[in-house]
Amino acid sequence: MPQPTSNRTKTKDSAMPARASDTFGSLVFAGDVMLKRLPPDVFMNLQRTINTGSALDPKIANTVAGAMKDWALEHGATHYCHWFQPLTGSTAEKHDAFLSMTSDGGAIEKFSGSQLIQGEPDASSFPHGGIRDTYEARGYTAWDATSPAFIYRSGDQATLCVPTVFVSYTGEALDKKTPLLRSIQAVSKQAMRILRIFGADKGANQVITTLGVEQEYFLVDRELASARPDLLICGRTLVGAPAPKGQQLEDHYFGSIPQRVLGYMAEVEKRLFELGVPVKTRHNEVAPGQFELAPTFENANVAVDHQMITMSVLKETAERHGFACLMHEKPFAGVNGSGKHNNWSLSTDTGVNLLDPRDDTHTNMQFLTFLCAVIRAVDVHAELLRGAIASAANDHRLGANEAPPAIMSIFLGDMLTDILDQLESGNPKKTMKGGALELGATTLPQIPKHTSDRNRTSPFAFTGNKFEFRAVGSSASVAWPNTVLNTIIAESLDFMATQLDKRAGKNPTQAKLESAVKSLLKEVVKEHRRVCFDGDGYSKAWHDEAKRRGLANHPSTPDAIACFGAKKSAELFAKYGVLSKRELEARHGVMVEQYLKLVRIESRTLQSMVRTAMLPCALRFQAELADTIAGTQGCGIECPGTETQLREVVGLVESLRKAIAKVEEAEGFHGDAEKETRHYRDALLPAMLETRKLCDSLEKVMPADLYPLPTYAEMLFSTRG
Ligand code: ADP
Ligand code: MG
Repeated sequence: MPQPTSNRTKTKDSAMPARASDTFGSLVFAGDVMLKRLPPDVFMNLQRTINTGSALDPKIANTVAGAMKDWALEHGATHYCHWFQPLTGSTAEKHDAFLSMTSDGGAIEKFSGSQLIQGEPDASSFPHGGIRDTYEARGYTAWDATSPAFIYRSGDQATLCVPTVFVSYTGEALDKKTPLLRSIQAVSKQAMRILRIFGADKGANQVITTLGVEQEYFLVDRELASARPDLLICGRTLVGAPAPKGQQLEDHYFGSIPQRVLGYMAEVEKRLFELGVPVKTRHNEVAPGQFELAPTFENANVAVDHQMITMSVLKETAERHGFACLMHEKPFAGVNGSGKHNNWSLSTDTGVNLLDPRDDTHTNMQFLTFLCAVIRAVDVHAELLRGAIASAANDHRLGANEAPPAIMSIFLGDMLTDILDQLESGNPKKTMKGGALELGATTLPQIPKHTSDRNRTSPFAFTGNKFEFRAVGSSASVAWPNTVLNTIIAESLDFMATQLDKRAGKNPTQAKLESAVKSLLKEVVKEHRRVCFDGDGYSKAWHDEAKRRGLANHPSTPDAIACFGAKKSAELFAKYGVLSKRELEARHGVMVEQYLKLVRIESRTLQSMVRTAMLPCALRFQAELADTIAGTQGCGIECPGTETQLREVVGLVESLRKAIAKVEEAEGFHGDAEKETRHYRDALLPAMLETRKLCDSLEKVMPADLYPLPTYAEMLFSTRG
């Protein structure tokens, strides 16, 4: 069951030490706070919208706004903002003071219902993909009552943040939340049809998308990061030779957390707890300086908002602890990058997880129908799923033998694979059991053995009672991947429900229904199980095999996002009411634009670093060597080794000049936007990589005091101590 955001007020002067439950959600306008501060009828009314998805009653807005304002003022807030998620991928907020002027020149604290419900930021200044012209500025934010308002503290400032959607004057979505909410509704509607067919809809009003997102990140000493223009501007290192020690000893993963980092994590968790984010797990990740945080899952809309808050808190708190928190997918070459594991499932609003296989799975036709719907969705719409996680940053990670490949496939594990075999033969008869593990020493407990192993190389893995979409990038908002996932699942559930209706007819007997389900599942498994793969997703053999199976493989963003421009995608998103044709086109345009902008910024940063730091420092070294040689020879001593070194440095410097000129030239290419993305991929990024290689070769031979940047070794091990 998704975790309700609750609030328990602290008892003042309590002698009891604060427990997590005392502080959980204390800065969130939800649960007990709402109950205490709203008149019962207004409370019930609002709860109805939150819990059952019924329409928001505008009549309650003034009362809710008043209560929110009083609560926020008591917590030191001076301003409120509509907090939304434009297509930049981050969050946006425009603060307004609670203070309003009165006609007699005084001031009162005011926050009205209409200010709660609607705001009007400039729509043309955010990415809009052509939906708005520069002169068409009007856009609206509208209150999303289903995600709790919260008080965000930054320094000594406190602001009441009201989660909102962001749409244009024409009502078209300009944000990531609007289509997410629509997709959640679309899944619910189709999933309810399946439940009705199985007579399992009793008491359930809707199906909820549940989501728990694990976040990986790096910590680097802030002073070191500040001395690197590439980290400051691009979030990743554009040059840098590998440190002698990387992750080869595998001694960081799950290792003891450095004290300084632990202090940081504890503060992050405390702040997130207050903000109602149910953080739960923390540990070291694989690469040195890499860590992970995971919350308990919630309903997807709230989980997405909480994920955005988590990223902000991780970054802000890092500064206070003298760290920079790097959320980029690949901050350092040669060690693992960071991802975000998107754990996704469907549950009834009565708390039944629809992807829980239960004990006798082979008899659980409802579960198998949902499972096959997911398999079918991932197969039919693999390209959309791949496109949903595409970004210039994620391109550096996907398929790099540390992250799942760009080929979308599903890991099911032994038990479900065995059941698929049985479904394909038409009559499932048994469910594999896990048994117990005998550990060989009598003092050790017998532990139950799962029916399946885990698979780290699969982009989309079944993990017991949910799917883990592991290919999402660490810096991405999870709103879009889940919007796409929900949409393709809605389509697939629609297909299954329609087929079952057709095959079983109205009010079928149990036997008729069962035979309809079995015949449908048999076909679906036959047609779509090519997308299931339990082996090593990193291996070359899988790439070859995937090709044979006809699975798409788009390792780079320009190819991966092309699917959003296709007519059939527009039809799909429109059919389920998630995005209109124009809205999807606009989004596709923004993705193309963002890829270009990002790569261009990196290219310019690299050019400036090379021209203003690397080359001048290398030349200084060159001059030092030349002086040394001249001076040594002046003393009548030959120094052939130093001469060789000088030749090597001159060679590298000259090559670096040529390489950086090539970067500049490649960046100057102009064509239509999609052509430009391909040119950036095929010419600019390789030219940048070539430049990097030369810089890294120079780094390896340059005196440490002349090298202008903090090194990998310094940065990767800066969290110790
Ligand atoms: P791991 O993947 O490391 O085994 P867990 O099984 O605890 O870790 O789950 C990882 C994430 O998946 C957590 O955020 C957890 O809350 C979330 N999760 C667990 N069950 C569900 C579910 N039914 N729906 C969505 N997310 C879930
Ligand atoms: Mg996991």
